[in-house]
Amino acid sequence: MMQVVELAGREDIARVFVARMRESERSLVECVGAVDPALPRSDKMVIVVSTQLGCPVGCAMCDAGTAYYGNLTAAEIQAQIDLVLREWAGPQASSCRKLKVQFARMGEPALNPAVLAVIVSLAQRQDLPGLMPCIATTAPVAGARWMRELIEVRNRWFGRGRFQIQLSVQSTSEDARDRLIPIAKWTLPELAQFARASTRPSDRKIALNFALAPGIEVSADKLAKLFDPRVCMVKLTPLNPTTRAVQNNLSSSFGPGGEHRVVQLVNDIRRHGFDCVVSTGLPEESEMRTSCGQLARIRGATIHSSEATGIPPQSA
Ligand code: SF4
Repeated sequence: MMQVVELAGREDIARVFVARMRESERSLVECVGAVDPALPRSDKMVIVVSTQLGCPVGCAMCDAGTAYYGNLTAAEIQAQIDLVLREWAGPQASSCRKLKVQFARMGEPALNPAVLAVIVSLAQRQDLPGLMPCIATTAPVAGARWMRELIEVRNRWFGRGRFQIQLSVQSTSEDARDRLIPIAKWTLPELAQFARASTRPSDRKIALNFALAPGIEVSADKLAKLFDPRVCMVKLTPLNPTTRAVQNNLSSSFGPGGEHRVVQLVNDIRRHGFDCVVSTGLPEESEMRTSCGQLARIRGATIHSSEATGIPPQSA
């Protein structure tokens, strides 16, 4: 029985739902409904859901990875999507041109087989023509079979670029990647091979995600040697000021004095033929802890008490 215990954020930017999925206090998850600041709701809405209770990966910049209590079921993941659709997106979801469902809030989706079942069930929905699932993964070695099955699901059910895969690369140095993502994962050449082998001409390019931090190598030249700009694009984001990031002395290259590095890097990446987007979000969004790895309940962004949510429990 899912029960919303806290709400955070702002209706017009991003709403964070903290929900208890089971009896235990360890079953708290977060899911989010967010707009793209540059677009009206009719053009784009984003739903972000958790796939695990905590996360076994333990990334150095992520508050979700400090504990792990197991996988969520398909019903529990689906319940989060239904909650955000009902309580945040509303009837406009049916006419939204791009309704992204991101499996990216808490948990490593490639370690939970139930995520694939949810994606298949989303493909059956006739009422959401703008639907576009989006997977963000660190590509753990233990999820290699899951990744193959993901491609089969995408190829069977989602055409015309209506599916997005994001790889959390974080650095072009394997040593730095090992520090940031402390789990056995695909190497850079293995990520590049996966992108080459799995992307068809009609598919969206695979996004290579980097949360830029001072002292963490991101080399456009190395990227160009490994990855094919015809099947990969690059997404640069600020490193969020999570509790874990602060503990690990990680800050963001997007802070004061870092502009030069970001501009230079974007130019270098584009010079090598890659599409490169810089996704900074709104300052208010960061403040409200709606970004990935920033758990609202840890950072104290609650704006309504559990008694005030007014959202009745529902079956997961
Ligand atoms: S960033 Fe993602 S994969 Fe890494 S610990 Fe956080 S939830 Fe897990």
